[in-house]
Amino acid sequence: MQNEILGIIVTSLTFYGGVNEIGGNKILLEDKDTKVFLDFGKGFTTRSKYFEEYLKPRQANGLVDFLKMGLVPKIEGAYRDDLMENAGQQLVEPDIDGVLLTHAHADHADYISFLHEKIPLYMGRTTQNLLKAIQERSSSDFERQVLEYKELGSKRNDPRIQRKIETFRSGKKFKVGSLEVIPIHVDHSVPGAYGFVIYTSEGPVVYTGDIRIHGNKPEMTKEFVRKAKEEKPIALICEGTRITEQTTNESEKVVFTEANKVISKSKNLVFADFNFKDVDRVRTFYDLAKKNNRKFVIKLKDCYYLKYFSKDSGLDIPNYDDEHIVIYKPKQRTGKYAETDYVGDDRYYATLPNAKTAKEISSEPEKYICGLGYFSFNSLIDMDIKSGVSYIHSASEPYNEEQIISEKRLNNWIDKFGMEKHQIHCSGHAKGIDLMATVRYISPKMLFPVHTEYPEAYKKITDKITIVKQNKAYKI
Ligand SMILES: [Zn+2]
Ligand SMILES: [Zn+2]
Repeated sequence: MQNEILGIIVTSLTFYGGVNEIGGNKILLEDKDTKVFLDFGKGFTTRSKYFEEYLKPRQANGLVDFLKMGLVPKIEGAYRDDLMENAGQQLVEPDIDGVLLTHAHADHADYISFLHEKIPLYMGRTTQNLLKAIQERSSSDFERQVLEYKELGSKRNDPRIQRKIETFRSGKKFKVGSLEVIPIHVDHSVPGAYGFVIYTSEGPVVYTGDIRIHGNKPEMTKEFVRKAKEEKPIALICEGTRITEQTTNESEKVVFTEANKVISKSKNLVFADFNFKDVDRVRTFYDLAKKNNRKFVIKLKDCYYLKYFSKDSGLDIPNYDDEHIVIYKPKQRTGKYAETDYVGDDRYYATLPNAKTAKEISSEPEKYICGLGYFSFNSLIDMDIKSGVSYIHSASEPYNEEQIISEKRLNNWIDKFGMEKHQIHCSGHAKGIDLMATVRYISPKMLFPVHTEYPEAYKKITDKITIVKQNKAYKI
């Protein structure tokens, strides 16, 4: 950022999201003439202050609803021409040198949808593949067009506009303008997550993205943390999702053991409700199915994930036609399971030999683990359910008002079908104690907590801390 009066070049950080909020990270790093965003995510909490399922920001109003309601920052030279034109704004050349994307979660990636296609996106190959899967399974979402998008008012067959993607590898340095960046893999509840060490003219800046140390691959996060310490950063931008949470003995292994206790005792159907982007959890339930002589039932839409996950040799995930996988074939259109009821690639998946209907699955209840969560509960209506079906909720417990209302509704389904509920989960975010130890160990000149509702909690361990204000630039 150039100080016009003094002519002094300064390096700065501006936090346009992830401030007093879990996610929505949009952090602008400026150094000399270079401007990069560290993530450009969707802030679910900010969005839900004004919007919900039946009151959405209008696509027909371009970016106006998002700008006016503060869901994206007002920045010149950042957004797509079609959105600017629609908003009656002057078109300017894009003035951002890139987005460094840590991982594919929506709260880090999704508002890239609105950025100008000339702004290059830097991401890992796995992140790119996961974003492809997400895009293929829900192609029409205006707020989810990270890799490519359709211009406002375009026709059905008009081409999609592709963004510029640069993929990186862990430990391999690359340049963006005046900056040098080293991405280093970290463990999180989505594959292909990275943290960054960024060399600015003032010194190294470290950004964690989302991390954990209690997952299946703690050595990846540790490698990142070691490198971060080595570089003696002038600034550490650290996530703090669970900074105030008490220690638990959670791990993916505990999820496996606890879920196995439930499944091995059951002669009935077992439902597992989890996020399919979490490959560790996919593997856990797939392995549990094999161990218990069951097949793992996945949703039709999850075939898109397996298609990409299975290509990635590092992930060790089977494809949708694996002998232990069954594809749940939902009722659509006529409700008669006709081939023509399914459109696009869905038809291909729905007509594979391992696709089965609700009735077929429930006729042999001891043979399946159904990876069908709450949002697929209408499958229960089509099944012949005997009471005593196990339901494993393998995601975080509800924490906001909307989730608590959904939880009540979920419990009504559980009661209606006489199911038994179990909470078995391991979080994607580091425990408070691990976050504190990480910051202490790296010992940065200044700590900027993000992605948390409790940034002050870090004051316990450091006084070199900036409690970030939204949209404010901090010189570093
Ligand atoms: Zn996040
Ligand atoms: Zn995440």
